Parts: sequence; C-alpha cells; structure tokens
Amino acid sequence: MVPGNGEITLPEYAPRPMLTVPVNKPIRPRFDAIDAHNHLGGGVFGGSESFPRWPVDQLLHLMDEVAVRMIVDLDGGWGDRLHEEIAHYQEPHPDRFAVFSGLDYENFATDPSFGETEARRLRDSVASGARGLKVWKVLGLRLRDQQGRLIPIDDERLDPLWATAAELRVPVMIHIADPVAFFQPLDRFNERWEELNRHPDWHFYPTRPKGDGTHPDFASFDELMEQFEGLLTRHSATTFIGAHVGCYAENLGWVSRVMDKCPNFYADISARIQELGRQPFTARDFMIRHQDRVLFGTDATPDAEVYRIYYRFLETRDEYFSSSNRGEVPGNGRWMIYGVDLPDDVLRKVYYDNAHHVLSAAVTSGVK
Ligand SMILES: [Zn+2]
Repeated sequence: MVPGNGEITLPEYAPRPMLTVPVNKPIRPRFDAIDAHNHLGGGVFGGSESFPRWPVDQLLHLMDEVAVRMIVDLDGGWGDRLHEEIAHYQEPHPDRFAVFSGLDYENFATDPSFGETEARRLRDSVASGARGLKVWKVLGLRLRDQQGRLIPIDDERLDPLWATAAELRVPVMIHIADPVAFFQPLDRFNERWEELNRHPDWHFYPTRPKGDGTHPDFASFDELMEQFEGLLTRHSATTFIGAHVGCYAENLGWVSRVMDKCPNFYADISARIQELGRQPFTARDFMIRHQDRVLFGTDATPDAEVYRIYYRFLETRDEYFSSSNRGEVPGNGRWMIYGVDLPDDVLRKVYYDNAHHVLSAAVTSGVK
C-alpha cells in the first residue's frame, strides 16, 4: 500500500489520462444527420407516464443546433398512443420525425395466432402513419407462448408479421440480446462487472440459479444470434435494422459475414461507440465495407454533447477519449475510445443517406 493513499474501491478509481494528443471536438457534423434510433418518450419504458413527451419546439431547436435533420422515434406503440405520438411529433413535422410502431407483447402468452394478430396490428399502424416497426429484445429473451416455451426469434408463427413488413416496405428495427458480457458469469473477469452490479436485472447468464422462480433460464447469446441469422436469411424481402451494430458490436466479423449474406440486413451504431471505438481499425473497415447499410443513431436522450461525442468518434482521429459525457470512466466498461476518421463519402451515407433510403421505401408504399 502506498503511504498516505490508502485503499480505494473500483468505482472510486477514475484515472485521468496524462496523454497529450490532438483534441478535435466537432460542434456540428460534417453532413446533416438522421438519428435513426431514438426514444421520444411518452411512458413506453416501464409502462410509466413519468417520461413525458418533449416540447417539440425545444427539441427542434436542439436538433438544429447539432444539425440533426430527423429523429426516428421508436416509441410509437400502437392504437391510441401511436396516434398521439404521431400527432405530437410526426404530423406537424413529417420531415423531422419518423415514428415507428410496436407490438403487443402481452398477447404472445395467450393468443395462439399472435403472428397474424401482430401482422394486422402492423397494417393498422402503418395505415395510421407509422414508418417502421420496433421489436424489443424481449423476443428471444423472455417472450413465451401458451405452453410456457420461449419463442425463438425465427419462430414460424411470426412469419405473417415479417411478410407484412415486407409487403408494406417498412423497415423493422430489431434488438436481439444485449452486450455479450451480460450473458457471462458475473465474476472478476466480466468486462461489464460494474454495470451489471448496478443493474442485476440486465444479467442473462443462462445457468444462474432460478431462486424464487421469477428468473427463467435464458437462451445463450450464441443461440440467440443463430436464431437471428435464421430470421434474416428466411425473410430476405424484409428490411431489418439490427440495433446497436447488428446486435453484436463485439464481433464485427459476425455482423459483416451476415451482412454479406443478407442484403436486407442493416445496422445502426446506436449506444455502441464504446464498443466500436475500442476497435477503431476493425470498426473503420466495417463501416467502409458496409457503407450503404450502416446507420447513424444514438439511443440516447437528445443532448448536444452526446451528439458531439458521436461526431468526434465518426469524424476525427482523436485518441483515447471518453465515450461518456458524464466523466472520464464510462458506465459501460472501463476503457476509452478512438475516432475512426471516416471518409466524406462514407460519412454522408452513414449520417443521412442510408436512413433516408430505408425510410423512403415506406413513404411510397401506398397503404391506406
Ligand atoms: Zn433503443
């Protein structure tokens, strides 16, 4: 022990890099952006109404400040709340907001034809103006059928839903699984140990003891990815956007292979610059190779400083900086990131063109 210092705990340890290297912090992106993955509220999370919708003028002001042309709001849901969400954001500003609808997950355990039911729901939602569908990670992780069996992601009973999305030409933003470390034992080797200690309910380690019976055994990460690949392959006419870098940011080789195989598979970079930025060479190669199918997105409460960290990551060669706007040590892993310095033509596609392309198909689909 060093005299005078005593011992500190891991959460207390927040080393400040003594590195002196160039610092470039873009205030605005080099090209206008579409944030293809965001949540504009209205109480979707946890079913509480404590997360209010934004005052739209205030939000537009913030978007203009950081050159975000459009936000894709994944919180539409269905029915009345979808109508309200669309009326609040998209109807008055169709060029600034695109609202995606959702599924009624509660039906899966009681409705034997949940696939047809959800396909009808999607049709209604798109007729009401929804411009895409969001599928939560509960599919694969938690959803069970009437027999109490986990419903695999590529379950045939959902085929009518994916076929309807293809017919209406609306993109499906889908989130499968979670960071790989969430499926690993929570021991001293777990790279997200602090995060999982703060959020034990995010832990999906399959063989953990069932305890009071409220925690079912989970599918393993690899099983979920296999099911996901099956879904993407079998429904080649449906456009899928894999949230958070195709749901497997730790393994861009996997994402890249499946993107090569499935031209209908897109990926957003939301909530994963912490992953991409620790493998800057691989991440740069990945984004250049798949430059027509990588979408900018944040999955973070709209905030100018958060957007600027993304711009810094995408546009600069800055080294060893924090992906968090709250401090040196990010909450999701004790490492810093590096910028990937994308070429202009790739940047333009990632920031704007690719999302615009995916969303335009829906607009011209002529439902109603
Ligand atoms: Zn999200």
